[in-house]
Amino acid sequence: MTVRLYDSHCHLQDAEFSPDREEVYQRARQEGLGLLVPGYTMESSKAAVQFVNAHQETWALVGVHPHDSKDFIADDRLTLRQWVLDEPKVVGVGEIGLDYHYRHSPEEVQKSIFEDQLCLARELNVPVSVHTREAEEDTLAIIQRAGWHRGVIHCFTGTADFARHMLELGWYISFSGVVTFKSADALRAIAEWVPMDRLLIETDAPYLSPAPWRGQRNEPIHVLRVAEVIAQQKNYSTKEVYDATMSNVNRLFFLP
Ligand SMILES: [Zn+2]
Repeated sequence: MTVRLYDSHCHLQDAEFSPDREEVYQRARQEGLGLLVPGYTMESSKAAVQFVNAHQETWALVGVHPHDSKDFIADDRLTLRQWVLDEPKVVGVGEIGLDYHYRHSPEEVQKSIFEDQLCLARELNVPVSVHTREAEEDTLAIIQRAGWHRGVIHCFTGTADFARHMLELGWYISFSGVVTFKSADALRAIAEWVPMDRLLIETDAPYLSPAPWRGQRNEPIHVLRVAEVIAQQKNYSTKEVYDATMSNVNRLFFLP
């Protein structure tokens, strides 16, 4: 079956899927899903590359998450670069960014490793997937300094102002299962006006299961629920959301 919809951000290489990874993948394929699988450490980036090389209609991004930026060494930049250049199914750099909620790595380290990987993506002319939490101002400043505007804010949970800024700079906004949560009225209100041609959807599996599966391990087929809620909110059919987000993924990740 060809792809009719993308889960634009899921971590199928994660150990959470070790017991039944093939079943989860097959369930996704039966629904016609294509999968984008970002790394978050060097090890998980390598696992993402191995996973996509063994599975049809899946592509990888490689990068180091802000949580782990304290472990980033100069050699890692070279390895990331090599993967992007040598691996045909690696389509971007991610997930990278800033997270001031957990602060697993010091702020200054997060900032420099984020900027370094943004510049790498710019050098290689590939898109990025950005994670940002409680760090909108610095995220925007670093992105503008790096001057690279081919990317997506993944699992968007930010402010309307931030969304507007990123859209103006040419970025895409990706919504996850969070948009289905009862408490997420403000987020749904943003989803309502994000233009159809800048919209992506994702699960961020194994995290953030949409309602009514909240708290359980998430998996890519639940992106259908995200599409449904977005469609309701925007007053489009789910098919229109499938088609729009699919051409957006194609434009962002696959155009040279
Ligand atoms: Zn993620």
